[in-house]
Amino acid sequence: MRQLCFTIDLDRDVNDAVVGSSAAVSLDRGSGNTPRFSSSEKGTLVLLDLLDDLGIQATFFAEARTLQETQIGRSISKYEVAMHGYDHEDLTGSKSKVILAHGELRSIVERSVQVIRDEVGCSPTGFRSPYMDPNEELLDFLHEYGVTYDSSRYAYVSDVVKPYPSGNMMLTEVPALKGTSANGKTITSYLWPMHEGKRSAGDFIALCETVKEGVCMIATHTWHMVERRSGGPMSQEDVSANYDATRDVLSSLIDSGFEAVDARHAASIK
Ligand SMILES: [Zn+2]
Repeated sequence: MRQLCFTIDLDRDVNDAVVGSSAAVSLDRGSGNTPRFSSSEKGTLVLLDLLDDLGIQATFFAEARTLQETQIGRSISKYEVAMHGYDHEDLTGSKSKVILAHGELRSIVERSVQVIRDEVGCSPTGFRSPYMDPNEELLDFLHEYGVTYDSSRYAYVSDVVKPYPSGNMMLTEVPALKGTSANGKTITSYLWPMHEGKRSAGDFIALCETVKEGVCMIATHTWHMVERRSGGPMSQEDVSANYDATRDVLSSLIDSGFEAVDARHAASIK
């Protein structure tokens, strides 16, 4: 059996880390870097159409601030909603140079759980670190807040990719994939190079088809359905082409025998 787990990071638009603040900003396009949320909101609607069209489950890793600043919490409630920080924090300080104290880490988790309960109506059981850069201290206490799995790491792709214990052995890690594509360059199962026009759907299909047993986790960002980091908001034509390419990746894999599941379900696969 092989499972396809489509995961969506619900971030502020074109998120960026800055030195001196653990919270993320939006890329400055000339009018400052105050967080923006409109592309994330639009991109979520595009992804909801896609999920509906394919009839598949998926997991939203939602940063709490974006849920508070938009109206999309209830609209994603039929899917699994898991945590992705409160303010898309750099949890290790590797980019921001801000080291978060133990109490601050706990506060981020506590407030994130509460916002998801308020805005979506469920208690999250999963976590993904912003920037896929996990803080081991945080992973070690996450289980105290009802979290059962984490998805903040990459596994090098092989024919068998299985979830494994992490976080003081109290969590299950469901990794995203990393591999080498036909041109010899590193590729991960984050679709963003495709959204940016730098890779084709076929590159991601080939990466995922390496997995013969276990979990193939694919990831994307809400805002990336309608905006490029390089180039800004997409034209309607580009949004449609981007939708088609994303659909192509998912439907090709489903057609070749992958069963689409959410991350919570994938975490239970032995
Ligand atoms: Zn993110």
